[in-house]
Amino acid sequence: MSDYQSYTKGHPAEVKVLTRRFGVPNSASIDVSIEHDGYKALKKALEMGPEAVINEVKNSGLRGRGGAGFNTGMKWSFVPKNVPKPKYIVCNADESEPGTCKDRPLMEYDPHQVIEGIIIGGFAIGAHQGYMYVRGEYRYLLDIVDRAIEEAYQRGYLGKNILGSGFDFDLATHTGAGAYECGEETALLNSLEGLRGYPRVKPPFPAVVGLYGCPTIINNVETLSNVPAILLMGAEAYAKLGTPKNGGTRLFCLSGHINRPGVYELPMGFPLRRMIEEVGGGIPGGKKLKCVIPGGSSCPVLTAGEIDVPMDFDSLARIGSMLGSGGVVVMDEDTCMVKALLRIERFYAHESCGWCIPCREGTAWLQALLTRFHDGEGIAQDPDTALDVSFNILGKTLCPLGDAAALPAISILKKFRSEFEEHLKLGACPYERKAVAVG
Ligand code: SF4
Repeated sequence: MSDYQSYTKGHPAEVKVLTRRFGVPNSASIDVSIEHDGYKALKKALEMGPEAVINEVKNSGLRGRGGAGFNTGMKWSFVPKNVPKPKYIVCNADESEPGTCKDRPLMEYDPHQVIEGIIIGGFAIGAHQGYMYVRGEYRYLLDIVDRAIEEAYQRGYLGKNILGSGFDFDLATHTGAGAYECGEETALLNSLEGLRGYPRVKPPFPAVVGLYGCPTIINNVETLSNVPAILLMGAEAYAKLGTPKNGGTRLFCLSGHINRPGVYELPMGFPLRRMIEEVGGGIPGGKKLKCVIPGGSSCPVLTAGEIDVPMDFDSLARIGSMLGSGGVVVMDEDTCMVKALLRIERFYAHESCGWCIPCREGTAWLQALLTRFHDGEGIAQDPDTALDVSFNILGKTLCPLGDAAALPAISILKKFRSEFEEHLKLGACPYERKAVAVG
């Protein structure tokens, strides 16, 4: 187990809801969890009944922390009540968006919090079986989570007749094999069923036809980790932590050119400028900010002039970007935006599952064009061609990976066009030349 301090240096602006047990010695054990309110919310949920739990979560303003930002309680309410089929709840722990590493400490330092959230979610939708789909690269976390699940069985929080309520619920982990695509909920379900991780056509949505053709809710680790706190503090108090329709706190992963990188729990709507300058301690070497990816590599970038924005789903959508998965990547004035875009597109070309042509061909084209361009062999039409390719991916693919590749490309090609012109004029990367000259 790594030291929590290696993830973050902490900051007084943090509001510790999800991370309140982090830093307590042995915080992953069930004894420590119970000493600090663990499984109290489950007892409360079993007394409240499923409908009341769904309403409480709905009213809290909790929105999916995996990236989509849909109201969680609303999603739970879509599960049909009177179907003669089993229902499932699946925790998506396939965290793989570049720039994002917040589900990892949640599983490492407080696995019982997410397990409690899964049991409560299962109770609310009428499921008796849950799964945690953990990305293959998080192998060491699997041992921690499996140990916690075993402890929960031993104490009667999992299994038959939980706490004498008559409610039965089982939970098991399942590992992925390291495919970004399996973080998409329907590809995840295929993978969980033992099939190749291709996404499914929607509709029908998983809430109606999901795992093994049965109603299924898929929620991210951070989303489910919020559920116990919502029931303990009440929907109203939880909602008030954030901004209207964006309840609670968020784990933001600050990385890139920043003095204090780390995972910080801040209220939803926390100003991006303060996040960079105060919480992250600004940019190393006193350099100027060039741009920020606000929510993981699939989000349109923001320029230095666009950082006076509250970090919530709606405020970022209003300025043409996204809160995504909370991965805030800071880039300083010496960052080559052609290279940054090439790095992003190399990732998406590698991770495209190849199912649909605009994504399979488009991401490969973007990677090839940008590689040639950055190597000094660009032609004048390249930026427009790259934009054209991106618009031919956007909205034309089966799953959101296509948009994830197109959106950062469009934003960088539009907002940093001058850098492409500069590369063309020089026939080389000006930033690499500068680095060589300085070095
Ligand atoms: Fe596969 Fe890409 Fe199509 Fe998604 S958008 S289904 S990853 S080819």
